[in-house]
Amino acid sequence: MTDFDPVIGLEVHAELLTRSKMFCGCAVVDSTAAEPNSSVCEICSGMPGSLPVINQRAVEYALRVALALNCSIAETSVFARKNYFYPDLPKGFQITQYEFPLATDGWIEIDDPSAPVSSKRVRIRRVHLEEDTGKLVHRERHSLVDYNRSGVPLLEIVSEPDLGSADQARLYSLSLRSLLRYLEVNSGDLEKGVMRFEANVSLRPAGSVELGTRTEIKNLNSFRALSRSIEYEIDRQATLLRSGKPVAQDTLGWNEEQQITVSQRSKEEAHDYRYFPEPDLPPLHIDETWVEQIRADLPELPAVKRARFMSEYGLNAYAAGVLTAERSTAAFYEAAIESSQGTSPVKIANWLSGDLFGLLNEAGVEIDQSKVTSEALAGLVALVETGQISAASGKAVLDVLFAEGGSPESVVEKEGLAQVQDQAAIRLIVEQVLSNNPDQVSEYLAGKPALSEWFVGQIMRETRGKADPARVRTELDAALLALNDQEQSQSGR
Ligand SMILES: [Zn+2]
Repeated sequence: MTDFDPVIGLEVHAELLTRSKMFCGCAVVDSTAAEPNSSVCEICSGMPGSLPVINQRAVEYALRVALALNCSIAETSVFARKNYFYPDLPKGFQITQYEFPLATDGWIEIDDPSAPVSSKRVRIRRVHLEEDTGKLVHRERHSLVDYNRSGVPLLEIVSEPDLGSADQARLYSLSLRSLLRYLEVNSGDLEKGVMRFEANVSLRPAGSVELGTRTEIKNLNSFRALSRSIEYEIDRQATLLRSGKPVAQDTLGWNEEQQITVSQRSKEEAHDYRYFPEPDLPPLHIDETWVEQIRADLPELPAVKRARFMSEYGLNAYAAGVLTAERSTAAFYEAAIESSQGTSPVKIANWLSGDLFGLLNEAGVEIDQSKVTSEALAGLVALVETGQISAASGKAVLDVLFAEGGSPESVVEKEGLAQVQDQAAIRLIVEQVLSNNPDQVSEYLAGKPALSEWFVGQIMRETRGKADPARVRTELDAALLALNDQEQSQSGR
């Protein structure tokens, strides 16, 4: 994209992990698993005359997010009715916040792990509370409706159009997901629909400041769909503009099968929804002391933790990003360092993000559920670093720990993996290998130094990989040097 700059803003909808719904006492259930319509009452099914009540926990969770996003909190915010008809919306309106949202004017820094120094600040326009809709399940000739999700607290986070590429949009939404999980207000399970994205995309001539006509892509449920649809839309608009055609303002859907955006309806304006303040709810007043208490209780957030991991443990930006993306991973890593008694944090990071992550991903296991404890990992890395076992044996030990748990020392002992450190024992094997291979010894002495690697291989095989390679080399070099001297003296005099 050289002739046009993409301008992208995102709206993110995130369900809040409260026990009950936004305006009634119904339990929030996993809408992909629960019996349909099993958690529904007169309020969330929109019976006439029923009265909503604001869920205080939902407001608290929303404030956590708003504060973590550096927003200003409105002393008074107002719930409004957004009127439209759809079968998944039994009331005929959605309660949301419109003119007076809970929080405004924040920002988040997103990191691009592929760039060395990379913090991009994305401005947050607003954060507000609303309720989710029900769900339609389409059958061949009819549709079913499940109101379990109707009234689940939903947080809408709207960014300014500060994103310049599909990749930045993806990194931004990954950073948000990480933040929401750190704050323990959203599970981050995109497959369950707990986070959904809408992207607005426009192009403008490179270097220009005026905004072009934008289109809005609705209902994106995965990071992949998010970045693919934005890429597609950038290309589509660029092709139009290059051939002198205008981009029509439009609401689009993403066709996953064909990997294209498709027009859903012509432009819709805010006045179509006839917003007005919800008459059944009072304005929401937020107490300053409560805000300060929530602020004080915020955990260390991913960006801060990442910077600390770099300065405190000497990790590079990429490793620090990987280890702080999840709070549980970061906690595991720091617990391992604490129990390690001086093993290099970088080495522990390598074993954790390389070998252990590989096993976890393969088995689909979360780090909290892993049989490898942080102490065990630290102990294992120490055994390798002090040469008590080889790196290859270390991987074998990790496999056993992953499958069975236990301590690395006991696995090493049980499997007989300890390296032979005994100098005399190694010397004996070296001499044995040399005397068993007189031809190779002669070749070596005749001027083929590369053969020393071959001898190392033979010796390691003889010890079934358990000799400390550094000691093997020392002993081998000494023995070969002695043979060389011997030959020199025989031929020289
Ligand atoms: Zn209900």
